[in-house]
Amino acid sequence: MAFLRPDLAELGAYVQPAHALPQIDPLDTNENPLDLPDDLKVALSQRYRHEISANRYPDGSHQALKTAVLSYVAESAGLSPADLNADHISLGSGSDELIRSLLIATCLGRRGAILVAVPTFSMYAVLAQTLDIPVVSVGRSEQRFEIDLAAAERAIATQSEPPIRVVFAVHPNSPTGNALTAAERAWLEQLPSDILVVVDEAYFEFSQQTTVAAALARPNWVVLRTFSKAFRLAAHRLGYAIAQPPLIAALEKIRLPYNLPSFSQAAGLAALAERNRLLAQIPSLLDSRERLFTALAQQPELRLWPSQSNFIYLRPSDRGLRSLGTDSSAVGQQRLFEQLLDRGTLVRHTGGGLRVSIGTELENQRTMRHFQELLTDPTAHRPAASGASQT
Ligand SMILES: *Cc1c(COP(=O)(O)O)cnc(C)c1O
Repeated sequence: MAFLRPDLAELGAYVQPAHALPQIDPLDTNENPLDLPDDLKVALSQRYRHEISANRYPDGSHQALKTAVLSYVAESAGLSPADLNADHISLGSGSDELIRSLLIATCLGRRGAILVAVPTFSMYAVLAQTLDIPVVSVGRSEQRFEIDLAAAERAIATQSEPPIRVVFAVHPNSPTGNALTAAERAWLEQLPSDILVVVDEAYFEFSQQTTVAAALARPNWVVLRTFSKAFRLAAHRLGYAIAQPPLIAALEKIRLPYNLPSFSQAAGLAALAERNRLLAQIPSLLDSRERLFTALAQQPELRLWPSQSNFIYLRPSDRGLRSLGTDSSAVGQQRLFEQLLDRGTLVRHTGGGLRVSIGTELENQRTMRHFQELLTDPTAHRPAASGASQT
């Protein structure tokens, strides 16, 4: 395979977790647990029948969808619609596509490196590696997962060839659920103009905290958002970037001409037209999160962190590790993960902990029960589904 880049040999393809159980609660990818309302799906299928020509390419300019998203962005950021126009937005096939486009626009060809604060969303580093872009990682505090700003500052000062060109921050962070603090924001705002600041607001609708106004005021700032979470459209792969026109122009040059299928554009328009109805569900989802948090926090076997998002990040406490029969944090997390899966709850084991998405009320009740069973009653431990041994 001499034609392949040798560095690709070290990378793995993205695989969805396989599970053998017929009935599983998928609490591993932070989607909204609710599907689109049925009447909306019916209306969409009518549009597919009567308005979409399957033999024609989609609208490659995304004009109608851009206009609709901009009006939502202005509303959600407390801006006047006049502050935003089509030159401030680029749409991607999920925000993953936009992350890749940003990397191509800034760092490709060994021109730059990226800075991430771990644990964080894994796709920044994954996509950077596929483009042979160096990734510089700094840590976060154990208490609240604030970015180690002193380390970040040092990394920028010392990483010289290639220099750091992009800093990625998730607001609120995944998997840890914390929003940017005032100090973190101030640090990002004072970065020099030859470093791009990417603020990923995938969970904005849950946190209601946004940096869109900062993005519009600074040439080196971009906000990413997605329709995959609160808006219930993960199947349709829609994300967007908000920034000043020169950066948007670069993203528009890089993206594939017909990156958004007609049906996905129609779904985005339908969801935005019904946004008040769709987003009215968010407060009750946040109530569910608080109930799940309170229930799990009563278990001394768990250590958990407050969340501004639709998931909870946790680890086994020292007592939890003992009850899981290990003194290794990594082994304890893996056992907890496997034993939850064995009972039908699929969570994400990432970033040195478990990330549990908020599901439907029934799913959350099962999650609570499964944690209780396996942590408080050691005799209830069953062999893990994956075959890993439980001693
Ligand atoms: C889920 C998520 C995304 C969304 O990716 P899409 O490609 O739009 O589905 C982006 N960033 C973060 C931090 C996420 O958690």
